Amino acid sequence: MGKGFFNVPVAKNEPIKSYAPGSPEREALLQAYKKMYNSTVEVSMSINGKAVKSGNTRTMSPPHDHKHIVGTYHLAEKSHVEDAIAGALEARKSWSQLPWEHRAGIFLKAAELIAGPYRAKINAATMMAQSKTAHQAEIDAACEFIDFLRFNVQFMTNIYNEQPDSTSDAWNRLEYRPLEGFTYAVTPFNFTAIAGNLPSCMALMGNVVVWKPSDSQVFSAKIIMDVFKEAGVPDGVINVVFGDPKMITDTVMASPDFAGLHFTGSTFIFKELWKNIGNNIHHYKTYPKIVGETGGKDFIVAHKSANAKQVATAIVRGAFEFQGQKCSAASRAYIPKSIWDDVKKYVVEDVNSFKMGSPEDLSNFITAVIHEDSFDKLATYLDQAKTDANANIIVGGGYDKSKGYFIEPTVIVTNDPKYTTMCDELFGPVITIYVYEDDAYSETLKLVDETSDYALTGSIISADRYAIDEATKVLENAAGNFYINDKPTGAVVGQQPFGGARASGTNDKAGSAQNLLRWVSPRMIKETFVTPVDYRYPFLGE
Ligand code: NAD
Repeated sequence: MGKGFFNVPVAKNEPIKSYAPGSPEREALLQAYKKMYNSTVEVSMSINGKAVKSGNTRTMSPPHDHKHIVGTYHLAEKSHVEDAIAGALEARKSWSQLPWEHRAGIFLKAAELIAGPYRAKINAATMMAQSKTAHQAEIDAACEFIDFLRFNVQFMTNIYNEQPDSTSDAWNRLEYRPLEGFTYAVTPFNFTAIAGNLPSCMALMGNVVVWKPSDSQVFSAKIIMDVFKEAGVPDGVINVVFGDPKMITDTVMASPDFAGLHFTGSTFIFKELWKNIGNNIHHYKTYPKIVGETGGKDFIVAHKSANAKQVATAIVRGAFEFQGQKCSAASRAYIPKSIWDDVKKYVVEDVNSFKMGSPEDLSNFITAVIHEDSFDKLATYLDQAKTDANANIIVGGGYDKSKGYFIEPTVIVTNDPKYTTMCDELFGPVITIYVYEDDAYSETLKLVDETSDYALTGSIISADRYAIDEATKVLENAAGNFYINDKPTGAVVGQQPFGGARASGTNDKAGSAQNLLRWVSPRMIKETFVTPVDYRYPFLGE
């Protein structure tokens, strides 16, 4: 710090706008959506501050209207990735030396741009690219992204303030250096906020970044790139490349300067990337930091003391918002027999009341799933459930991809607690329910713990404190985010740091100082005021 110990603005969560009929935000959002829908955009890569077009392009279409084209984006060749790495390393010379308050200023500005002039654009782009409803876009692309940016600045200063004790003759200073080399962000389709946070939080800590967004999110990634540029992120600090994930990753990981991976996506891909790093380990100048938040098979357990309406609401919201495409989405539930009839009635009533269609019609609660692969995979599971004797679809089960990738919200009931859809991550609007005997609560908790490889989120719904205590203990390692009397989704930055263990990730808690700590390499500086001049210690005396 140069000339003052500066305080940063106290981070507060961005208030969620309602988009109710007649509200100005609804009007602005629909206008932005229409404008994007009725035009086409050409998205370049961003390499060392330059907009780069390879000439090799792919089209972009909304998942809810897949024959309609809203733009194209340029795909990287190997040389583009090499340029991005070189640009990052060149930018590092200045960026890593820039006083932290300038980095803070840039990303606080980015937060304000999203809160104000870019809000309608980034939400409309998220509705278009990822088929989010207005509400789901608002809580992701606007609010969560703004929260990440604001809270991370505060977390950064908290980290810098963590200092060791000193004595009168020696001053100890801990310097939080950026990683030596460049970092790599690989982001998923499902959250615009995650796409923006993974590269920006590493840059905030003084790192330079090569960022590869998901092919299904390029349309909204473009708005993130525009915001970063307008906020003043210097050339080469965050470089963006699109296209073949394997080629891009192989090129990045072959570089001796590769210093860190910040990944969010599926478990299998993350394990492959870890293996790739392992295979290259002898070439690196430093041990790369590896952070990955991955898949989930998130649960709701109801106790016989639970209120059936509350359980049904947790299931409906937890499983079906954003078509179940949240890593935290409830996808298996364990319901005691005595309340099952009521829970079932409420769930079926609610699901039958959903409207499904384009997010442009704000009365739709459900829209399309992200792409054809996801649609086909889900359709296969639904067809299987229709023929399996141990599974019964009580609502939904239909699908149609003629206009968009629409899968009906579906509830499967099974009498086999290890039925395939109780174990596999489907990543769609499908929940499977196992009904247990009321007096088998303890065995059921054990089953919940042992059924899946994942350990991301889960919840217990109960009016009985002893039952809550038992679940909290038995499920200690079954979820990184555990909810009592709530649905297992909806973590808020600054309130519920997010991440899971087992096959769900390295649990470095996005939206917390713990995550940012992974992107620094501390240097300890001890300064001695009166330097000794004689090697002899007193004990050596006669
Ligand atoms: P995905 O694994 O298909 O893709 C994630 C990223 O990895 C994308 O950028 C993709 O292009 C890239 N990728 C794909 N193949 C690759 C390869 N061979 N080499 C290098 N990179 C490759 O995931 P998705 O469909 O975009 O997102 C859904 C998944 O993400 C789900 O499993 C979900 O649970 C998980 N997720 C987890 C969290 C969390 O916090 N735990 C949050 C969001 C999403």
